[in-house]
Amino acid sequence: MQTPNHELELAIQSRLHAVEARIAAACKRTGRSPESVRLLPVSKTVTPAKIRAAHAAGYRSFGENKVQEAFEKHQALPDLDWVIIGHLQTNKAKQVARFASEFQALDSLRVAEALERRLQIEGRGLDVLVQVNTSNERSKFGLVPAYVADFVQALRPYSALRVQGLMTLALFSADSAQVRPCFAALRTLRDQLLDHLPPGMSMHELSMGMSGDFETAIEEGATTVRVGQAIFGARPLPDSYYWPTQGDE
Ligand SMILES: *Cc1c(COP(=O)(O)O)cnc(C)c1O
Repeated sequence: MQTPNHELELAIQSRLHAVEARIAAACKRTGRSPESVRLLPVSKTVTPAKIRAAHAAGYRSFGENKVQEAFEKHQALPDLDWVIIGHLQTNKAKQVARFASEFQALDSLRVAEALERRLQIEGRGLDVLVQVNTSNERSKFGLVPAYVADFVQALRPYSALRVQGLMTLALFSADSAQVRPCFAALRTLRDQLLDHLPPGMSMHELSMGMSGDFETAIEEGATTVRVGQAIFGARPLPDSYYWPTQGDE
């Protein structure tokens, strides 16, 4: 007889392997190496037991949308690395500076400044991605593409923030013809930024693609895909809870 924990481990492991196989197939179609894409499991609302199962399958970094939830999981599972992928309010910068390994949703200088100050106090650095709004509708967060070049220049004084690239949420649609232009826009923007990149910054990372659209994102150049439900199962809360649209909050 197998223990319940062992069964959970096998179930999560087989879902991870299925996602890995789809990543490899998408890479093959476009002549990319599968090692060029990082799978970041997104664990919001997921229990520690399931996260441990994914850890046992070889994953140690997990994406979380909300700081408080991420911090609680960091305390419960301190040996894992926590990547904040959701909008940050300046009053949470202190907490993020303490424990996060990466922040993928930087979209304001106020947050950059708050993070920098707290990181200097902690004596830490933080990998960050600049969030870009490529859809104009999915989320009110993220910078308009036309502002990103100036924004990146303005980040120069913040030495604790290690800029690694860009992140986006595509338009919410099951139709890849609708989603693809969002991903293509992020890649084009990245390519443009490479010409005038401040010293010490990188534009290597393109974090784009989730359970419903990660293969399209890989075809358009994603280096990180953020996948939750395809690994851990459906979430109880609607997506609008995580991605407030204009007028919410
Ligand atoms: C929840 C979330 C994801 C993962 O979405 P799934 O549909 O579960 O794959 C990716 N990115 C962000 C910013 C998220 O909040």
